[in-house]
Amino acid sequence: MDSSTATKHREKLEAWLRYYDDLGVGVFYKDRARVGEPVPQSNAKAPAPEFEQILRVQASPASAVPAERSNPTRLAASRTPTPSTAPALPVVNEDSLFEAVDRVENDTLERIREDLGECTRCRLHKKRNSIVFGVGNPRAELVFVGEGPGHDEDVQGLPFVGRAGKLLTQMIEAMGLRREDVYICNVVKCRPPENRRPEDDEVATCSPYLYRQLSVIRPKAIVCLGATAAQSLLKTKESISRYRGQWLDYRGTKLMVTYHPAYLLRNPAAKGDVWKDLQKVMAHLGLAPRKPARP
Ligand code: URA
Repeated sequence: MDSSTATKHREKLEAWLRYYDDLGVGVFYKDRARVGEPVPQSNAKAPAPEFEQILRVQASPASAVPAERSNPTRLAASRTPTPSTAPALPVVNEDSLFEAVDRVENDTLERIREDLGECTRCRLHKKRNSIVFGVGNPRAELVFVGEGPGHDEDVQGLPFVGRAGKLLTQMIEAMGLRREDVYICNVVKCRPPENRRPEDDEVATCSPYLYRQLSVIRPKAIVCLGATAAQSLLKTKESISRYRGQWLDYRGTKLMVTYHPAYLLRNPAAKGDVWKDLQKVMAHLGLAPRKPARP
């Protein structure tokens, strides 16, 4: 390799490393730190080879990010998803009777929103400004489910638009997608006061609207952001650490549980774990991460 090619490769690699540093997934390559630099500790067992694999994938023009992402419609079914080796674990997937109760014939997102109306079914309506229904591609292959709106979401009527939302947007973009390609919603549609966790009865009252949203969208994968979303969809009270990062099953759809972006803001070291989880989702959807802008 001549020296100008080597320099180009080096610059490209440095751009990637800066990009992933910005995302907080440096744990994957910090083993390349200069001698004497401290290596941050993380629960993630630094799968450097996996990260190098991403770089290799990106270096190949044939595996560039799929063109259909420029079109906010369902990602092309023609892509061949990488077969996942992770077992799809059936977790407390409630019986079909329960499922049937949530099914509405010829349901649509508009109809679900109409059915919600100016909801007063639980106490959360008393202090809300907006019902935060959900946003994104109604034919998305990927749905992110959070817990419930915070202050910014309540003001704007849109999910994940505050600090945690900005981090979620970065995560989506790191997957090679845009926010408009995916669908984003929450378990409860009204902000719990003081950002407390929604109570069980509030979750129980609001969840059927989420189940209907999911059965209308019929994504190829669902990512639960945090324990509230996971517990609502999996009908479990188990702690998130029991099932984070594994493929699970929600009524026939693959479901991945990962940490909530708000948790990542408080515990940046967990970003490496989240990136590993998202890589599994990307493999299932046949996605390659987006190239960073040229430095
Ligand atoms: N946290 C959530 O769980 N959902 C949002 O929409 C915003 C923050």
